[in-house]
Amino acid sequence: MIRLLINGSKGRMGRALVACAAEDPELAISAEVDEGDDFSAALAGCDAVVDFTHAPATAAVAEACAAAGKTLVIGTTGHSDADRARIATAARAIPIVHAPNFSVGVNTLFWLTRKAAEILGPDFDLEVVEMHHRLKKDSPSGTARRLAEILADVRGFSYDADVRHGREGMPGERTRAEIGMHAIRGGDVVGDHTVIFANTGERIELVHKASSRDTFAKGALRAAKWARAKPPGLYDMQDVLGLR
Ligand code: NAD
Repeated sequence: MIRLLINGSKGRMGRALVACAAEDPELAISAEVDEGDDFSAALAGCDAVVDFTHAPATAAVAEACAAAGKTLVIGTTGHSDADRARIATAARAIPIVHAPNFSVGVNTLFWLTRKAAEILGPDFDLEVVEMHHRLKKDSPSGTARRLAEILADVRGFSYDADVRHGREGMPGERTRAEIGMHAIRGGDVVGDHTVIFANTGERIELVHKASSRDTFAKGALRAAKWARAKPPGLYDMQDVLGLR
């Protein structure tokens, strides 16, 4: 039995995690924590923390878990480079699974995106389009960022220098060395991602649409169980699913 602290328990994902964990006989929830609650007091009574909160909060959670020797699963997105560095440092002491998307389908999309980019080669223009509900705070989504990072890796581009976020005014013709990124917001969309590979004469689109947050929650809980048996290190859902 693994005792879980759900951080961000009152949020959309937190509620899905609490509901899905209650159905899993291998898991028990030792604490439901949200903003303003005493995280440190709750930490002592758990084996692992699952964090779906707000990006600026995560690095301190990782450091507290490292000091207390607790496994950590991070689903929160939108971290700065400085936050990512602090999370990586904490992962020297404990296993951390940090993934922008815990669904099996999206992790298959990550794998397919790499394969397609490798097969199609440099003649295809690359664009990523994502749509999320109107309440989402960070943009583009962590999943869209990861898709662009995969494309940039295959093509030898840089995420920071070569991703073009939206287009307006007179940006001129599309260059070969860019990845277009477009974030749409509206309604209650749980999460849609499309990767477009466009050449003259043909186009491939890889599309994933999530219709329930339970798919992310179940993946994060699977990651918590997987990580308990692992040595300290920074892992992602590709590791959990054996997709490397
Ligand atoms: P939400 O706004 O509904 O919930 C966030 C919750 O965190 C809120 O209840 C808020 O009060 C709480 N919170 C904020 N700061 C906190 C702090 N310092 N300590 C404790 N709790 C705190 O958001 P959501 O839709 O549940 O998404 C949460 C995060 O998870 C976002 O970053 C989102 O992008 C990400 N997300 C990731 C995945 C994935 O698979 N990795 C899937 C969906 C959402």
